[in-house]
Amino acid sequence: LASRDFHPENTVININGVSIGGDELVVMGGPCAVESASQIDEIAALVKAAGGQVLRGGAFKPRTGPYSFQGIGVEGLIMMAEAGKKHGLLTITEVMTPEYVDICAEYADILQVGTRNMQNFDLLRKLGTCGKPVLLKRGFSATYDEFLNAAEYILAGGNPNVMLCERGIRTFETYTRNTLDLAAIPVLQELSHLPVISDPSHGTGRRELVEPMAKASVAAGASGLIIEMHTDPDNSMTGDGVQSLFPDQFAHLLKDLEKLAPIV
Ligand code: PEP
Ligand code: MN
Repeated sequence: LASRDFHPENTVININGVSIGGDELVVMGGPCAVESASQIDEIAALVKAAGGQVLRGGAFKPRTGPYSFQGIGVEGLIMMAEAGKKHGLLTITEVMTPEYVDICAEYADILQVGTRNMQNFDLLRKLGTCGKPVLLKRGFSATYDEFLNAAEYILAGGNPNVMLCERGIRTFETYTRNTLDLAAIPVLQELSHLPVISDPSHGTGRRELVEPMAKASVAAGASGLIIEMHTDPDNSMTGDGVQSLFPDQFAHLLKDLEKLAPIV
């Protein structure tokens, strides 16, 4: 079902007037994690003012170590839903287990599967019946074939609204957190009809590389970008402050992107 052979036309996902996978570039911006109601409200206002269409923020965080901040949970979902509604943005949040799919689907417009859960097959199956679009991140060691098979689980479960997100893969290079595989964008578009989104934040792990790799992703044909932005990155509750743009950088980037692709 994910293959272009089966479905020659591009899939365009329409959510409350925002189309993903069509001619317009969609930008999802926000913090790694929802930290408080005032934090997500302030960032939502900045995403909207900059021209973004989707507010990102994790309420449930998949952390490498068990003692790291794990997210604020359901409270965070509620805070983000309120901020999205108030500022006229769609929302996207990560869901990590099948048990939490229903509650995440109740509060968010798009559900995100993180890189560490790309082959959590029970989760993928449950997302097949969740009724909301899913942004599936590529596993950091997954081949294109494995990635598309993971998408297939969601599609086969009855949910046609899946986006593929390239977020960087693990290579021998340690200067960057991951290696953003730009070739994945045209390759996935050739193999599949699903919208391809790029995440230059996790794909590089370094703030100064987000802008050039965002532009390169759009030049390579990405339908959208998911970008971390924080009002106080040095004090963010996850370690992802180092890759988060300051609000003025985010706004600048979106202005520049208009020259490359129209933003809704
Ligand atoms: C995130 O989007 O904050 C995140 C944890 O992403 P990934 O699964 O790509 O590491
Ligand atoms: Mn993050």
